[in-house]
Amino acid sequence: SRRPNMAQRVSVKGRGRKKISRVRVAVRLRPFMDKQDERGEGPCVRGLDSQNLEIVNWRNATETLKYHFDVFHGEQTTQKEVFLSSVKPILPYITRGQNASVFAYGPTGAGKTHTMLGNSAQPGVIPRAVGEVFNLVNAQDEDEAWDYSIGMSYLEIYNEKVLDLLSPSSQDLPIREDKDKNILIPGLTHTMISSFSDFERHFVPANLNRTTASTKLNQRSSRSHAVLLIKVVRTQRCLPRRQQTGKLYLVDLAGSEDNRRTGNQGIRLKESGAINLSLFTLSKVVDSLKSGASVRVPYRDSKLTRLLQDSLGGSAHSLMIVNIAPEYEYCFDTVGALNFAAKSKLIVNAPFTRETVAVLPVKRANEEREAGQSGT
Ligand code: ADP
Ligand code: MG
Repeated sequence: SRRPNMAQRVSVKGRGRKKISRVRVAVRLRPFMDKQDERGEGPCVRGLDSQNLEIVNWRNATETLKYHFDVFHGEQTTQKEVFLSSVKPILPYITRGQNASVFAYGPTGAGKTHTMLGNSAQPGVIPRAVGEVFNLVNAQDEDEAWDYSIGMSYLEIYNEKVLDLLSPSSQDLPIREDKDKNILIPGLTHTMISSFSDFERHFVPANLNRTTASTKLNQRSSRSHAVLLIKVVRTQRCLPRRQQTGKLYLVDLAGSEDNRRTGNQGIRLKESGAINLSLFTLSKVVDSLKSGASVRVPYRDSKLTRLLQDSLGGSAHSLMIVNIAPEYEYCFDTVGALNFAAKSKLIVNAPFTRETVAVLPVKRANEEREAGQSGT
């Protein structure tokens, strides 16, 4: 199986060696939304195998850009496959007192919400992960020495304000750090849940709030980060009754098309409104994590990265799902999203031709054909 070859070992003062994990990156290409577009220009990006993809170089059509990632999910990939291969493996850690986070990154319209939330016919990462956390906890042996409790919070970061989605009338909430370096938000609703239907009872109406607000407030949902926290606390039954807390953050990020402007010469952060500070800082944090432990990681520069400080990098288990779209109109933003997430890219002097369409990695293709996928 794949081992992260970039897992680094660094010395931590006085404590010997500590394993530093990095951010795993999966790319997911969604299918064409309009059959007409598919017949016209065709895709501007395609998979080569289960880790590599190529895209038209919009600067020079005689070149393609090739990228390498931990995983590439082709357009045929089902919700279940994304969950099983990329998300499920990290969930056991949060039942053992460790932190994990899953982000959906990419331009608006490329499939972030589909990947995280999905719909009732094609449930996404969030419902599947929450269901699996309950499975893991319920499967614990009766003679296990621990008792478990599960709680949830749901918040939105919009214009650098932290808003409680479980208590919609609340104001901007502060982010704090306790003496053990745990990040917390005093005043944020944290609701105990004892089953998946319990979770839905709180989560579904909170999402409706968010959607309603978005139509009123200038596409708010594409500019805000929706952050779901699932917290698993386990307590030893016997003395000394040790307690461990594991946090899982499931994040539907703001559209990355805002981000490219921040990278351009001349247009700087002062062009407020248009720029999403948290997303911009997230890209700096991911860069710092990629380049090793010696650089300062700028967690404190934005609300999102501050909140995720104890669940991103370090010993946490992080997964970035980069959502991309096949249409040419997305090409520029797709390259931006891939550059954000890739360690390296290769420029190949070969035109992007439609004839050499590679076979996409369709695992267990017949096992799950989700409703709607073959329709229209
Ligand atoms: P984003 O949240 O990134 O703006 P959405 O998740 O809303 O994008 O996706 C845009 C549209 O594409 C939606 O209609 C969604 O249902 C559809 N879509 C996205 N990804 C897929 C996919 N993998 N399979 C089928 N439809 C998808
Ligand atoms: Mg969305």
